[in-house]
Amino acid sequence: MEKILIVDDSPLQAAQLKSILDNEYDVTVAQAAEDGLCRASCENYSLILLDVVMPGMDGFTLLKKLQEEIITQSIPVILITSLSDVEHEQRGLVLGAVDYITKPFYSAIVQARVNTHIKLYNYRRQVEEQSMTDQLTGIANRRRYDRYSMVKWNEAARLQVPFSICMFDIDNFKIYNDTFGHPAGDKVIAAIAKTVSSHLQRGTDFLARYGGEEFVALFMGDHSDKIFEHLKRIRQAIEDLHIPHNPSVSEWVTVSVGGVTVVPTAESAYGSYLKVADTMLYDAKKHGRNRVVWADERMKQMWEK
Ligand SMILES: [Mg+2]
Repeated sequence: MEKILIVDDSPLQAAQLKSILDNEYDVTVAQAAEDGLCRASCENYSLILLDVVMPGMDGFTLLKKLQEEIITQSIPVILITSLSDVEHEQRGLVLGAVDYITKPFYSAIVQARVNTHIKLYNYRRQVEEQSMTDQLTGIANRRRYDRYSMVKWNEAARLQVPFSICMFDIDNFKIYNDTFGHPAGDKVIAAIAKTVSSHLQRGTDFLARYGGEEFVALFMGDHSDKIFEHLKRIRQAIEDLHIPHNPSVSEWVTVSVGGVTVVPTAESAYGSYLKVADTMLYDAKKHGRNRVVWADERMKQMWEK
């Protein structure tokens, strides 16, 4: 059942709305804006019905706050206004509410508007989802990575937890493609994405296709020694797929892995650590490929072989 949040200081009004929507939706009521904001950011709502006039934080202020947060900014908001409230309606729509409903409530109208906006929201989410997924591998694409990396980097800085950036590159992939053809190369890319994905453990572990035969993974919470061990296992698992390579370069398809672990501060720039990860990957390639090279929290290098 899709979840709807009603934010309204009047228990009577909230109960009326809830009873109109209760059959089709999982409806929660918050009686103050602060509570509404808190719920909206930690639960997955498909729609928010928001009363404009409330003591303390009013509906407009809450609407603005919802729009500022990445997690809540795409949830459609319908304002609840009085019939005479033309000014409020205008202001709300300018601020980004998708619609408004006026008191007294007519069940059929409330249901129709709610259904329409939830349908639109789901459609938009589906399109967004597709536009952020890599077609070949089904994992995140560059676009999702760009967004995710910034959000999580800032989160790690705020929480002061270790953050790891990891680059994978398939070894001698051009030779593979020249030998076996691009369709076979695509299968290798997909198989490697699947293997790495199956080794992700936490909800915050993240993998994206960065470019042609390059992947980027992000990890939060663990220090470099643990991440380094984890990546050695992933690298080995890829070698253990035993995908035959051109024998002139290697027996099996392998990957080189480079990365860095850092506890970010508000001042540290993501881009400069991505460069460090890239340098580690370059070192892994230069020293024979099929290995992990890592920079720890003090920027000291760790070598697999
Ligand atoms: Mg009110």
